[in-house]
Amino acid sequence: MTRPTWLVTGGAGFIGANFVLKQIRERRARIVNLDALTYAGNLDTLAPVMDDPDHVFVHGSIGDRELVRRLLAEHRPQAIVNFAAESHVDRSIDSPGDFIHTNVVGTFELLEAARGYWRELQAAEREAFRFLHVSTDEVYGSLGETGKFTEETPYRPNSPYSASKAGSDHLVRAYHHTYGLPTLTTNCSNNYGPYQFPEKLIPLMILNALEGKPLPVYGRGLNVRDWLYVEDHCRAIERVLAAGSPGEVYNIGGNNEKKNIEVVQTLCRILDRLHPEGAPHERLVTFVADRPGHDLRYAIDASKIKRELGWSPRETFDSGIEKTVRWYLANRDWCRRVTDGSYRRERLGVAV
Ligand code: NAD
Repeated sequence: MTRPTWLVTGGAGFIGANFVLKQIRERRARIVNLDALTYAGNLDTLAPVMDDPDHVFVHGSIGDRELVRRLLAEHRPQAIVNFAAESHVDRSIDSPGDFIHTNVVGTFELLEAARGYWRELQAAEREAFRFLHVSTDEVYGSLGETGKFTEETPYRPNSPYSASKAGSDHLVRAYHHTYGLPTLTTNCSNNYGPYQFPEKLIPLMILNALEGKPLPVYGRGLNVRDWLYVEDHCRAIERVLAAGSPGEVYNIGGNNEKKNIEVVQTLCRILDRLHPEGAPHERLVTFVADRPGHDLRYAIDASKIKRELGWSPRETFDSGIEKTVRWYLANRDWCRRVTDGSYRRERLGVAV
């Protein structure tokens, strides 16, 4: 059987790149990878596949409808997987405009290009086509001490980031409802694992700890998040793409609720064992002023994807976090090139 072609957007970012590397490694699909290479896009991550005939990297924006139209016409993909986004809550508080442009307007432009392409396909190809939109559990707002987000939970986004993702989710829903575009939406909890940009909690704490720098924890570290190892998220997306019903939403979670301080303490314990020079790393924990509007707790009910598509995570939090720390220890050069900015200055053969 010939491999399908998928247009993946944002495939130089954390989750997108993990997804692309997995597809190429397992020879599941030919990937056309459209990424605007913002600060979060890192071609170092994609180095193993930059010369692979099954991977075509295109530097450009999902907001460029003409470019997307050309890519669709040239490569004739069977699916679009939309990872492209501005994704960091703190940045959305400082400059919300970028989030509206990429997450709302960009998704709209991508949907328009997809709709035009899909409409012109032959009946059998039109039937098989999928537009998979990758989103977050943050669209549901904040929980109290109990309860979990289901696919029926009303949207109550609290940050400019989550509001912009909610806007994009609504557009995706509307394109299915109004035009019949075969969309799929996934709402996932916090991811962690290899290649995550070190502004996010887990890589930030690991890299700061290795350098003996303070480990800044918001408030008293009592905010609760559900954590999912990135490869489990990638497997969930593969399942939804292969077997999800058009128009449906699937929540994805790891069933690993942790207070932020517990995550940091776990990292410190692993580092004490694997990098004893800096032990005890917990002495570096520093509580800092809380993030404005910080959601207290997120938790995902992922029973629908388990029941309907047979997906469940393979990693526990303990196994995933151990793998993650080991990955950052073994890939100090990747980390150094991110922290000193050389990943942006010396991009592999792509004019930016
Ligand atoms: P990331 O910030 O690491 O990567 C985003 C990628 O999108 C980058 O490579 C960036 O260059 C690219 N990009 C930004 N604007 C673009 C544009 N206009 N056109 C094309 N590419 C553009 O993000 P991530 O953590 O990999 O998240 C990927 C997706 O998953 C996002 O949609 C995010 O909302 C969602 N998500 C993330 C998490 C998480 O914990 N990281 C959890 C749930 C959902």
